[in-house]
Amino acid sequence: MSKKKLYEGKAKTVYTTDNPDELLVYYKDDATAGNGAKKGTIVGKGVLNNKISAFFFDMLAKQGIEHHYINMPSDREMIVKKLDIIPLEVVLRNVAAGSLAKRLGLKEGTKMSTPILEYYYKCDELNDPMVNKFHIKAMNWATEDELAQIEKAGLKINSIMTDYLKTKNIDLIDFKLEFGRYHGKVLLGDEISPDNCRFWDSTTHEKLDKDRFRRDLGHVEDAYKEILHRLTGKQV
Ligand code: 5GP
Repeated sequence: MSKKKLYEGKAKTVYTTDNPDELLVYYKDDATAGNGAKKGTIVGKGVLNNKISAFFFDMLAKQGIEHHYINMPSDREMIVKKLDIIPLEVVLRNVAAGSLAKRLGLKEGTKMSTPILEYYYKCDELNDPMVNKFHIKAMNWATEDELAQIEKAGLKINSIMTDYLKTKNIDLIDFKLEFGRYHGKVLLGDEISPDNCRFWDSTTHEKLDKDRFRRDLGHVEDAYKEILHRLTGKQV
């Protein structure tokens, strides 16, 4: 397979493949926080996030969510459909944490009475500013119809994941999704892993996600391993 590096991000590198409709995503161990202000390595993270994301994509597909994941040629690599990425981060929240807790002065752990969906414009130079539907339509980042599809899928994904994770004694606090266009459809892209979700143990409220790295809580790799283990019953 002829591979050409297309793009190197903070946690993943993307390559072309022989198929113009498909890309290869390589999951790295690099970790950043605060838009690159803090840098480090989480040993084995690439393998864990690849496997955890593949698990969630497969699970969501069974419930009718269309996504970019095709297969996993190796422990760190995923073949995906080549999406035209919509430049938005779609954040779903069930419990106040992180930037929401800060913005609204809420105690972390405060349960929301209904899920919250927020949009952020994907732009490192501007620190991913929060935007609303008016900004998105005025800037032609997505159409009204695409936003309707994104909101429907986002809320459904939140409900499927929350219910499933509850059976593994994990609370889904919040998470970030990305979507893209593919042959006239809007599909779920990117990854679903402890890098872009907040997972708390339902009993102890222990954080099992990237906040362990962001906040120097220690045992970062162990938390990622614990998530894979609870989901699949497998060690790495
Ligand atoms: P917050 O807005 O509280 O920082 O993040 C809300 C949720 O979205 C968290 O689960 C966080 O992991 C995820 N998230 C928000 N922005 C980003 C981002 O730029 N990259 C990643 N990987 N996750 C993000």
